[in-house]
Amino acid sequence: MMIRDRASEMGRAPEVYQLSDTFKTRLEDFLNRKEMKIGYQASIRLRKETEEDRQRLAAAGMVLCPSCGDRVPKSSLLRLQGAEKDCCLTEYVHAALKLTKISVIEDESYIEIVNGNPEVVGKGKTRDECRHALVESIKKWIATQQQNGLTIPLLPTAEDEL
Ligand SMILES: [Zn+2]
Repeated sequence: MMIRDRASEMGRAPEVYQLSDTFKTRLEDFLNRKEMKIGYQASIRLRKETEEDRQRLAAAGMVLCPSCGDRVPKSSLLRLQGAEKDCCLTEYVHAALKLTKISVIEDESYIEIVNGNPEVVGKGKTRDECRHALVESIKKWIATQQQNGLTIPLLPTAEDEL
């Protein structure tokens, strides 16, 4: 494919190599071929959810969250006091985490609370540890409320805090 310049014919090591015209043409053809530009085509095809899919998922305990529309385990749906529709646990926890206050206490560990709910608290040596503990505390609190047949209040909105 490569041809040497004339110098090589004189017995010296060539300093310049040139691509032969044939090779250049072939290379250009190769690079210009459409499929080379595209690379490869994705072979995943999306299809609409069928009634059968829905039934299969429902049988497995998966439902659509009426609030956020995510597919969630039916057991994770929460009936909130005064709410028009149920919301899922993930959504509730996320919303609660937007309403927290974190502080450093004497032994330099962190403590985090959800505004308006003194029963929920997280504590940890690091922020992450503290946050993790808070999430667990929220989940535990929800489970206790449900076990005791107590309602789960709507989360206050950020405006309520002002
Ligand atoms: Zn949801």
